[in-house]
Amino acid sequence: MAGNRTFSMIKPDAVAEGNIGAILKMMEEAGFRIVAMKKTQLSKATAGKFYEVHKERPFYNDLTDYMSSGPIVALILEKDNAVADFRKLIGATNPADAEEGTIRKLYAKSIEANAVHGSDADETAQQEGSFFFAETERS
Ligand code: GDP
Repeated sequence: MAGNRTFSMIKPDAVAEGNIGAILKMMEEAGFRIVAMKKTQLSKATAGKFYEVHKERPFYNDLTDYMSSGPIVALILEKDNAVADFRKLIGATNPADAEEGTIRKLYAKSIEANAVHGSDADETAQQEGSFFFAETERS
């Protein structure tokens, strides 16, 4: 079986610091297959749409400013138990709470500029992958 999928972004802080390669290597070494990948920059409006579930949170405006501040890398990743295993690989939202050896522990700068995104459920993974990639890019 091919496994199931999650969606990830390498966020502006990690792209700006030159950490795309190191982070992709950690993903591949943890057994994730890259199904789709693109480097792009979000507008504030597009970042707002992606993070619409957080619209009422106090950090929504800062988050959408940050996520549109520079290029990101969007990815669809495949592995058995992809969503949960990827959340484990990236670590806690706040790098101060992230376990040793996780991507956020190694590369995140702050609770906001935390290097990577990982979907929180299979259904969101599907929605987020479709937000960035056409069907022909993710088959
Ligand atoms: P995730 O699932 O670990 O990415 O965390 P959430 O879904 O709770 O939050 C989405 C993103 O919003 C996080 O990855 C951070 O970039 C940002 N964020 C979360 N909490 C805070 C916060 O308290 N302050 C700020 N400025 N940003 C936050």
